[in-house]
Amino acid sequence: SASDPKRAVPASSEGADPQKQSPAFQIEDLHVWFGSRAVLHGISLNIPSHQVTGIIGPSGCGKSTFLRALNRMHEFTPGARVQGRIRLFGDDIYESSGDPILLRRRVGMVFQKSNPFPTMSIQENVLIGLRLAGTRNRELLEERLEEALRMAALWSEVKDRLHAPGTELSGGQQQRLCIARALAVRPEVLLMDEPCSALDPIATAQIESLIRDLGQRYSIVLATHNLQEAGRTADRTAFFLEGRLIEFGSTKKLFTNPSQKQTEDYLTGRF
Ligand code: ADP
Ligand code: MG
Repeated sequence: SASDPKRAVPASSEGADPQKQSPAFQIEDLHVWFGSRAVLHGISLNIPSHQVTGIIGPSGCGKSTFLRALNRMHEFTPGARVQGRIRLFGDDIYESSGDPILLRRRVGMVFQKSNPFPTMSIQENVLIGLRLAGTRNRELLEERLEEALRMAALWSEVKDRLHAPGTELSGGQQQRLCIARALAVRPEVLLMDEPCSALDPIATAQIESLIRDLGQRYSIVLATHNLQEAGRTADRTAFFLEGRLIEFGSTKKLFTNPSQKQTEDYLTGRF
């Protein structure tokens, strides 16, 4: 369940945590088709835990498609087909016994425009995931509300107006609210798809700093077409091109000394 201590990411997840040693995701030969069109052509990649992993590449290279495969979102897309094996901390997520709803509690997701639910207050937005999971205990809900808002660096800004509509917040605050909403169920990993693309520079800087902080105790996969953003936030970076993984390594190495010509060409703006 969502309150299983093994599943939770405790605030003090230090050395002893066995999850720290194994990769968050082990992805083997992942293919995705939309109808007859292949969009991912066999991606194999281990995503380390407790780090920020950036996914970069030009628009249309398959970043969002890749992220969506990591929490089985393609099951909602008619005509989409996924092949390959993805393990989340050792568990095969496409195993037929695996429940995609349970999986989505283990894998939080934040989008470019993950708008707050417009009819809901700030508080309701954060707690919706827990409520849907059946949590009724008021004390627990209050505890998780504050925990999630603190983790999203939003608590001090909203603690006196928790019942105001989420849509009253600024763009950057709304994105942090959506991050709090994703964190409230204590997922094991967080997928972020262009989380700053719709934000102004100040809000972007705040979210990027939040991503770096969260990356200390979460496993984050961040898709972005913004190279600087990956450079500022990601510990390791994967470069995708036309549905293929071209290169994966430490962000610093990939940016300063790429091993593939295609990576170098992309970084220097040659295509
Ligand atoms: P990125 O996020 O890197 O910009 P996407 O993963 O969104 O790339 O898209 C990869 C390719 O898959 C693109 O050519 C896009 O047009 C195509 N694609 C994405 N989603 C769908 C869909 N639901 N149906 C058909 N084609 C899609
Ligand atoms: Mg995308």
